[in-house]
Amino acid sequence: MRRRPLIAGNWKMNKTPQETQEFIESYLAASSEHRDCDVLLIPPFTSLDRASRLLSGTNLLLGAQDVHSAASGAYTGAISVGMLKACGCVFVLAGHSERRHVFGDSDDAVNDKLKAILGNDLFPILCVGETLEEREGERTSSVLNQQLAGGLKDISEQALESIVIAYEPVWAIGTGKTATPEQAQATIAYVRHWIEIHFSRQASDAMRILYGGSVKPSNARSLQNQPDIDGALIGGASLDPDSFAQIIDEAMSPSGEDKVC
Ligand code: PEP
Repeated sequence: MRRRPLIAGNWKMNKTPQETQEFIESYLAASSEHRDCDVLLIPPFTSLDRASRLLSGTNLLLGAQDVHSAASGAYTGAISVGMLKACGCVFVLAGHSERRHVFGDSDDAVNDKLKAILGNDLFPILCVGETLEEREGERTSSVLNQQLAGGLKDISEQALESIVIAYEPVWAIGTGKTATPEQAQATIAYVRHWIEIHFSRQASDAMRILYGGSVKPSNARSLQNQPDIDGALIGGASLDPDSFAQIIDEAMSPSGEDKVC
């Protein structure tokens, strides 16, 4: 089955609305149009409104980095899915490793967020991945089992069609250490197999699974060439419009070795 690639830039806590505007203007001037993949920008909440206005009429999509599971109420500092939708968001991250490890999001909390996102007809990107200690202790599969079972608890096979999974080994996020294409492929194939066992072969064939962790122009192609990798979630290298555009060009270029950049 052919799955449409998704390449997403997660800006984390970077860029003011003005810097967001400058990025989008430069990116649109620098990038080639790739009709065969989805490109997603995930700026901080405070830039969503400005980004949404600038992206209108382009084929770039807008997403948010996190959300609260409640629709409204006394949750100081939190943002609801309805608010994100009103700002033009289509995708929302749930369970990014920084949310799990810095802010303590549990699998139950991630599951609640996923349900709230789906309940508002937006598309969740469920992030999963192991720490270095867990990988070295050969616990990668048990960590993934737990994050997938917890995150996808009570999700129907029909709802699963709206979900994207991002496998992001914590040891590769923001460290400059990328999983090798073979490591990323093997782990993502494991995640796909998990979906087949717990849902169906059809659901697993259709599921878009991204790799994230120090993706850059020099490794984007060999990662994207792996049969089970359907795109990338990019942090640091998505902050520069030229680098983000290059990653997309590399990932979407025909199979072959990485270009030496
Ligand atoms: C991320 O934030 O999801 C990420 C993968 O970051 P980086 O590309 O900087 O490793």
